[in-house]
Amino acid sequence: MYDLIIVGGGPSGASAGRVAGEAGISTLLLEKENFPRYKPCGGALSPYSLSCLGFELPESVVERDISKVRVHYRELCTERQKDYRLSLLVSRKAFDNFLLDKARETGIDIHLGEKVLGCEEREGFVEVKTSQNSYLAKFVLIAEGSCGMLKYAVRQQRDRRTEYDLALVSEIPEEDEIIRNRFPETIDIQFGVASGGYGWIFPHKGYYSVGIVGTAEHLKHPKSVMQDFLQANGFSGEFQVRSHIIPLGGIKRKIVSSRILLSGDAAGFVDAFIGEGIAYAVRSGQIAAETVADIVLYSRKLSDLKEYEARCRKEFGNFLVSSLKLEKIMHRFPDTSFRLALSRKEILDKYLDDVVINRSHKDYIRWLLLNFSLAEPASKIKSITEKNR
Ligand SMILES: Cc1cc2nc3c(=O)[nH]c(=O)nc-3n(C[C@H](O)[C@H](O)[C@H](O)COP(=O)(O)OP(=O)(O)OC[C@H]3O[C@@H](n4cnc5c(N)ncnc54)[C@H](O)[C@@H]3O)c2cc1C
Repeated sequence: MYDLIIVGGGPSGASAGRVAGEAGISTLLLEKENFPRYKPCGGALSPYSLSCLGFELPESVVERDISKVRVHYRELCTERQKDYRLSLLVSRKAFDNFLLDKARETGIDIHLGEKVLGCEEREGFVEVKTSQNSYLAKFVLIAEGSCGMLKYAVRQQRDRRTEYDLALVSEIPEEDEIIRNRFPETIDIQFGVASGGYGWIFPHKGYYSVGIVGTAEHLKHPKSVMQDFLQANGFSGEFQVRSHIIPLGGIKRKIVSSRILLSGDAAGFVDAFIGEGIAYAVRSGQIAAETVADIVLYSRKLSDLKEYEARCRKEFGNFLVSSLKLEKIMHRFPDTSFRLALSRKEILDKYLDDVVINRSHKDYIRWLLLNFSLAEPASKIKSITEKNR
């Protein structure tokens, strides 16, 4: 009987594994793939993500240090260079493998290439069946990502197309010097490309991550949107394109039953406006493991597992709710809102300072309302920079 079984070795499962191992509870992590494995992702880590990790990333994992962002909406373009880091770019293959090694260091059991087929709560424990075996645990954390079905052991299956995004991504090889010249420490975000989302070009080491994301409800022809985006940005040729779903964060979902918890994408913890999920995957995994360790080590009540939900809400849940609101406002009237947002450099500047760094939508919205009105007539909105490719 394990104290904790973790399903999935992505950022959420690995972070939970590290905390559980450090706390000294007996833990088994089950991962269906053999690591290092590919994971479709832009690979951008915000300063908040990095602060959640609790350790430095080695140089071998970091591909680019980003301090500049270029944002487009149709013919408009603005860019901001900051004197602080906006993001680090990593390849998920190396990053996830590194996080899993950090979990392994603590001595927990890790089984790779073993897929979990189901988990059922019984009187006093949970039974976990895999492709190879069957295990028992006092608690189970499901960190299976966005696509798995195991999460429905906790909450009802209710996949409305309004509650998740579709993303398509391609990694396009290029000489590093060309990449650095085209996007010097710069990430490129293009709104108006996919309904409810955006297109991105991230300059990794030796390749571009190019992708589009939009709400499943509105993105009717994702492949052709992706093709148009590639073409418009000068990427011609045959590229492998992978699609994936991303849950919209900020929507109320059940994330804990009496002995099973959900974390990361399985819990729906993604920023609906920018699609950032790694930070919340890491942090929710850590909080889940801390909550379980507290119950196991200090013989606390089973009902204390609910504290997991409350802690997630307090630490980042409210932020995800306001991000969902911002996403809805911006994409409800995209022409007015993005034209306004790109017409003044200080709007992007303040977003980076208040939201990305200080993580407060409240201050940002208050500042916006004091200084601008979304009702400002389109004729008054002037573009101040030309599209800069
Ligand atoms: C195209 C795209 C671009 C993105 N770009 C960014 C970005 O730039 N920055 C950012 O912060 N976020 C980004 N995200 C979101 C981010 O990828 C996720 O939020 C993050 O990976 C969630 O981590 P996780 O550990 O919950 O799940 P995952 O990373 O999906 O890991 C889940 C793990 O569980 C394993 N697994 C699944 N089912 C089972 C099973 N039955 N048994 C055993 N193992 C199982 C999987 O193999 C996988 O290794 C992007 C997402 C997409 C789709």
